[in-house]
Amino acid sequence: MGNIVIVGSGHAGYQLAAALRHAGNDDAVFLVGDEPHLPYQRPPLSKDYLKTAMKPEDLRFWSEEQFAEKAIERIVGVAVTAIDRAAGAVSLSNGHRLGFDRLVLATGTRNRVLAVPGGDRAGIYSLRTVDDAERIRAALATAASAVVIGGGFIGLEIAATMAERGLPVTVVEAAGRVMGRVVGEAVSRHHERVLSALGVGFRFHAKVAGILGPENLGSTGRVEAVLLGDGERLEADIVIVGIGVLPNQELAVASDLAAGDGILVDAGLATADPRIFAIGDVARHSSLYASAPVRIESVQNATDQARLVAARLAGKPAGAYGAVPWFWSHQGSLKLQIAGLGHEADETVLRGRPEDGAFSAFRFRAGRLVAVESVDRPTDHMAARRLLAGGTMLTPGQAADESFDLKALAMARPQTA
Ligand code: FAD
Repeated sequence: MGNIVIVGSGHAGYQLAAALRHAGNDDAVFLVGDEPHLPYQRPPLSKDYLKTAMKPEDLRFWSEEQFAEKAIERIVGVAVTAIDRAAGAVSLSNGHRLGFDRLVLATGTRNRVLAVPGGDRAGIYSLRTVDDAERIRAALATAASAVVIGGGFIGLEIAATMAERGLPVTVVEAAGRVMGRVVGEAVSRHHERVLSALGVGFRFHAKVAGILGPENLGSTGRVEAVLLGDGERLEADIVIVGIGVLPNQELAVASDLAAGDGILVDAGLATADPRIFAIGDVARHSSLYASAPVRIESVQNATDQARLVAARLAGKPAGAYGAVPWFWSHQGSLKLQIAGLGHEADETVLRGRPEDGAFSAFRFRAGRLVAVESVDRPTDHMAARRLLAGGTMLTPGQAADESFDLKALAMARPQTA
């Protein structure tokens, strides 16, 4: 029996521990996490958690008893501070050391910080943990106006919740459209239209020059407004910063494992040291759906990568990582589902019409389907996942033709042309 040490008790870390036991592995498993909580789900934090009276315990994957039953040793509220590859051990922030035969880095990401004058005033929040969500929910109860900096998934989900509550909110975005990193123009514009109708204001190509408060309190006073680069002042007594994340890759870098916007892993999710793996948001890996290695921030990716590494560690057959990436976002009444990766697409066709409120954008690269972004079209999304997984040929003309039976094609035996 050996020691498996998992660093990070978020989505990927938990899934790995659970999948190891499911796969029949009986090594000693240590799940080391720097958060004080039992592993929990993050997606509801920017969705139902802010709208309801949900409690932290409602988000938990497993209870204490379940971890104990599965003989998974949790080391809680403790960070791994260094990896000693020569000795096969990690150092912990509580002063202890822990030996490993296999080490899995599931350290996730942290939010980028807004580095502008006044950026540390009270009333400025970013959302990553359940504690962040608690603070934001409490602040929302008394807020009179809000600014969300960053028009990505999380920022828009929060902005939609604010608008639904009647709170005046403006989204400040540096680029020319929302979610520009991950979806095509059609989906961005549709979300902007629907969210505008809900009451969300937008400023595009906007730069934040500073966060203003009462002059006599300097930068420690409470936020009163956001100052934009063009001089516009947006009143706000709560500001949410959602300007992207940075991978927690420092442990790997310090132990000479390759990293660059994520820890580099091979097709089996191992680093250059065959005893050390990286999974989840922190891992940069090859993908069938992109020309260069990618780092994917999604529950699907965390779960599927955890399962693959669990199979490997349990001595089961596990090929190369090739799961179809998929993701979802709920913004007000909008239900967006994405399959594949569209950032390299060179052609997009629509199935259905945005003005009808439900449509899918089929995205192709060099004539091959690489992603499908569906707004309130769950059947398109499910078909897309099958089509992408099977490598099934679909032409842009077929995708745009509503009379073409997408589901039948998706259910047909996959071709791998
Ligand atoms: P995480 O879940 O972030 O876990 C990493 C853990 O490692 C953290 O607890 C961190 O504190 C800990 N850690 C870091 N360094 C150390 C160290 N040195 N020692 C010990 N512990 C350490 N995905 C979707 O697919 N759909 C959604 O709708 C969606 N909504 C989201 C909403 C929010 C608000 C957030 C924050 C994320 C959302 N995501 C969503 C993304 C999804 O939650 C992540 O992709 C997923 O949690 C990644 O899992 P992970 O284990 O890689 O990272």
